[in-house]
Amino acid sequence: MRRVQTSGPGARFRADGLKFKRDGAQGVNYVVYRHMPLRFYNTYSQRLEQFQPQDGRRVRMYTCGPTVYHYVHIGNFRTFAFQDVLRRTLRARGFELDHVMNITDVEDKIIRGAMERGLSLDDYTRQYTEAFLEDSANLRLEQPERLVFATHHIGDMVRMIEGLSEKQHTYSSEGSVYFRIGSFPEYGRLSKINLAGNIAGARVDVDEYEKDDARDFVLWKARKPGEPGWDSSLGCGRPGWHIECSVMAMKYLGETIDIHTGGVDLVFPHHENEIAQSEAYTGKRFVRYWLHAEHLMVEGQKMSKSLGNFFTLRDIIERGYSPDAIRYLLISAPYRKQLNFTFDGLKAAATSIERLRNFMLRLNNARLGAGANPEFEARTDTARRDFDAGLDDDLNTADALAAVFEYIRDANTAMDTGAFREGNLAGAQAFLQQFDAVFDVLKPLVREDALSDAEIEARVADRTAAKKAKDFARADAIRAELLQQGIVLEDTRDGVRWKRK
Ligand code: AMP
Ligand code: ZN
Repeated sequence: MRRVQTSGPGARFRADGLKFKRDGAQGVNYVVYRHMPLRFYNTYSQRLEQFQPQDGRRVRMYTCGPTVYHYVHIGNFRTFAFQDVLRRTLRARGFELDHVMNITDVEDKIIRGAMERGLSLDDYTRQYTEAFLEDSANLRLEQPERLVFATHHIGDMVRMIEGLSEKQHTYSSEGSVYFRIGSFPEYGRLSKINLAGNIAGARVDVDEYEKDDARDFVLWKARKPGEPGWDSSLGCGRPGWHIECSVMAMKYLGETIDIHTGGVDLVFPHHENEIAQSEAYTGKRFVRYWLHAEHLMVEGQKMSKSLGNFFTLRDIIERGYSPDAIRYLLISAPYRKQLNFTFDGLKAAATSIERLRNFMLRLNNARLGAGANPEFEARTDTARRDFDAGLDDDLNTADALAAVFEYIRDANTAMDTGAFREGNLAGAQAFLQQFDAVFDVLKPLVREDALSDAEIEARVADRTAAKKAKDFARADAIRAELLQQGIVLEDTRDGVRWKRK
């Protein structure tokens, strides 16, 4: 992507390398006329592809949800936050969503954890599921249309395994059932894994295993002593991890879904296995667009529970940071780039939010000259187009944010010089709304016991009256009392402005 500077003040048009038309006699203005549609990088084709759902407007989307054996860390939340940006961008483009996310509530680590603590699977996973949902809400992640639990779909999984067996894709050994990857010639197409020497695949029956070695994977695990199990036509046991996602995706979304998302560590073997099971079962393409988020890193290593280099959202809040700052940090870098987590980065995110909110306040309180300035209106239009173009380009949030901050700089200057008029306000506010429909960081978190806007305004008016009456002690007391509640007052040319910290 290149950008072309046009002759207008600060006006920039995104050049997409496709088609430019000379505009005007000076020969310096180049305007892009062709609208670039929403594009995603598809891991399967390894290319940027124009997005179009099979049904026209309804997007069927599946997300691998958390394994609830512990608090979810902010690395996991990078992937879930990417999905939130994806959802909101799709909706902003007029699509309807049918999004399913699973909760993996039966798996090796869960069983180990529950047994160690002497709890039932249900009791053990409930606390972490609830914590996940609470953290997601604090990060303002939208809930998918359907949240589904693996343990509620055991019967569906058994039926699919039976179907795979009828089609000769499985074999049994010591009470467990395995998928024979040699029976599915397309195995490896998503991850581009080289199968030479591996296709005969030794069996593996754990949920986690080496990432560079293609193996026949377990569909149904025979129950071991002390472990939970379900009685079924396959014997007493429990499903392997991979089968749950194929079953729940197809049950709610149909045999071919539009988008499947997850972190890059799921490409192999989890998603490769999902494709093998699903396509061997239906004979149809399982997923049209595979989208994978890169990792959140810590000093060059993936943030992960096993390395112990992780922070939960709770850890971060305890250190005095707001969930808004984490949300901003996680989504400000394009999802296909690794992102290094540092506390300096988190502080910078908080400062960026502050700038955005200050701008919003300035707009809300500005005293502007009458009329509208068409040149500045054009500047707003450009910013709005650039913002959308960034997101349309495989959710390039960094480009989208650059459009916002460049605009804020120009709008501040225009307000200082009087070039920003009353008639320009609605456009600027609409742009902020367009931004916040995706980024959702402008509204400060409101504590349950917080003062309402009306209560704050009443106190601000009391303070103004006290100042007029030269009762400065009372005015200062009101300011201090509000500050204690996290409300900051600022005396400006245009009167008193207040904001929540
Ligand atoms: P899990 O609960 O381990 O199944 O992980 C839930 C989601 O988080 C999956 O989509 C993983 O790919 C993703 N994930 C795990 N670690 C990271 C990380 N450090 N950065 C980004 N995503 C991650
Ligand atoms: Zn999955």
